[in-house]
Amino acid sequence: MGKDKQDRTTQKALLLNLYAHFPFCRRKCTYCALHSRAGSSEAMRADYVNKLASDLSSLDLAPGSLTTVYFGGGSPAMCDLTPLAPVLRPLMCDTCEFTVELHPLDVSDERMDALASIGVNRISMGVQSLDNPTLAHMGRGYTAEAAEKAFATIRRHFDNAGIDLIVGYPGDGCDMSGIKGLYSWGLKHCSVYSLILEDKSILSRRAADITFPSDDEVLDKIGEVADFLASIGLRRYEISNYAAPGFECRHNMSVWLGEDYIGIGEGAHGRLGLTRTVDGRAAETLTPKEDERERRLFSLRTADGLDTSGHPEWAVTLDDFANKGLVVKNRTRYRLTRRGTEVCDSILLELL
Ligand code: SF4
Repeated sequence: MGKDKQDRTTQKALLLNLYAHFPFCRRKCTYCALHSRAGSSEAMRADYVNKLASDLSSLDLAPGSLTTVYFGGGSPAMCDLTPLAPVLRPLMCDTCEFTVELHPLDVSDERMDALASIGVNRISMGVQSLDNPTLAHMGRGYTAEAAEKAFATIRRHFDNAGIDLIVGYPGDGCDMSGIKGLYSWGLKHCSVYSLILEDKSILSRRAADITFPSDDEVLDKIGEVADFLASIGLRRYEISNYAAPGFECRHNMSVWLGEDYIGIGEGAHGRLGLTRTVDGRAAETLTPKEDERERRLFSLRTADGLDTSGHPEWAVTLDDFANKGLVVKNRTRYRLTRRGTEVCDSILLELL
């Protein structure tokens, strides 16, 4: 390898993405099976943040090496995050994207000031529904009106802000009126997930007594939401994600496009070279071939699609899907059609 190329490779290896997990919530939402728990004390949360700071220090990262930081949960803002700042700030590059997930009940002007003071520049708020009976059934603890007010508070402090929605929750139906009210929120980003009935969720224990919408109803609603978001200038840049131009989530794009990322905190996953980590410890080591396939395949989820160069066997499989109208081909690159986005997981399974 020439020196220039080696230098570029070394430089790239020094640039990293960081995900930190905060497993604390006020109470467990009915649909949720994420690693999180209700009922923590302030002391418990402070110990957790101090442990994250110490884990981060022990990674011995180069100053300015973090290009994206993402605090997810749980509800990270239930913790006082300021003890992380002295360790984290020097590691962030000048243009680092620093996202924090927020629950609407965690939003206040004081808290937004505190987040901005530690370098946060992007907010993702979990709204999930704009239908009040659905929000109550989910156990979210706020109304659609309160969520709108919380988002307006966020927007006074952060331009780069968006929300998450869930489609397909029982009872949420096909009414688009709540969703259409989003036109005046000033959204820069929206993630739209279809409900997954997770085994360990409260909802799955009650499932026998609940009528769920059919797959077709859910897909129709996602289509309507996608059309509405396009009408307010949010382009679908990944299966579940929509953004105004220039406001795509760089952290998640880095993961889908195969970059390394460090995961710290309980249950956090990471990818460093050939090693996959959980809770900061090596959980699996892939062969170079497995690693390359895994890193590249997930780009199929993005609007730019998958470049099959070097993998003629992928092209053969994807040509079949192109004949069924699920992908479109441009030379060696394949992109999902709208119908293809509905079955992306099955397509990826065929390619793996
Ligand atoms: S959805 Fe979010 S706030 Fe609700 S229990 Fe899961 S992690 Fe906690």
